[in-house]
Amino acid sequence: DHVDVEGLEEAVAQLDPKDPEFSVKSFSDLPLSDPTQAGLKASHFTALTDIQSRAIPLALQGRDILGAAKTGSGKTLAFLIPVLENLYRAQCIGPDAGLGALIISPTRELAIQIFEVLRKLGRKGHMFAAGLLIGGKNLKEEQDALARMNILVCTPGRILQHLSQTANFDVYNLRMLVLDEADRILDMGFQHDVDAIIQYLPPDRQTLLFSATQTKRVQDLARLSLKDPEYIAVHEAA
Ligand code: ADP
Ligand code: MG
Repeated sequence: DHVDVEGLEEAVAQLDPKDPEFSVKSFSDLPLSDPTQAGLKASHFTALTDIQSRAIPLALQGRDILGAAKTGSGKTLAFLIPVLENLYRAQCIGPDAGLGALIISPTRELAIQIFEVLRKLGRKGHMFAAGLLIGGKNLKEEQDALARMNILVCTPGRILQHLSQTANFDVYNLRMLVLDEADRILDMGFQHDVDAIIQYLPPDRQTLLFSATQTKRVQDLARLSLKDPEYIAVHEAA
């Protein structure tokens, strides 16, 4: 309810992730909604990984992020938790809220994995509608479902097809864009698709870009898609 949201909003604003002393070790120490805390607990996630503890507080505060950390470091929750929480606090979840977040993944398999983690995270009381747009399904059926979705996980080609062909596909309320595995998105030749997708989206959104490696092309994409981003690179301890 509103009181809960106001309390969370205040707690998020009070985080001071730029303070060198700041560190958050467990999810229970973060100002997250009850359903998210319950979803994390039910999935047995207790301690944050490095990329999560550095990215999540800043992302909760609405910052754009360019995050680089190797495969297996926990990047999925580093963006899914802020997506869910920022939409929840903005009360942009529900049948009339429209599309609040778009998560772009290079492959169908990775998109399915993200979608499964989102489902697990949301299964303890969140009311969002989430969809997978990865091709291989009837375009018309997908078109009919789009209007109800709050969060979409998609591959670049399929979402671009909908943005360019689906009448009434409204991205006006979009608040968050996630580009996951950005290095692979670029390696697979989706640069033009991603550029075209971004042209359809409201410019005053939050963008989170994650990558396993930092390449020149990832930096170039970041320059095009991010606003005053926070750069977070997690290196393995020597
Ligand atoms: P990446 O996208 O960086 O390759 P993933 O998000 O796929 O990494 O996470 C890799 C594995 O680590 C998954 O099996 C995931 O469930 C697990 N994991 C992620 N975050 C945590 C955490 N905070 N605690 C325990 N396991 C985690
Ligand atoms: Mg990943």
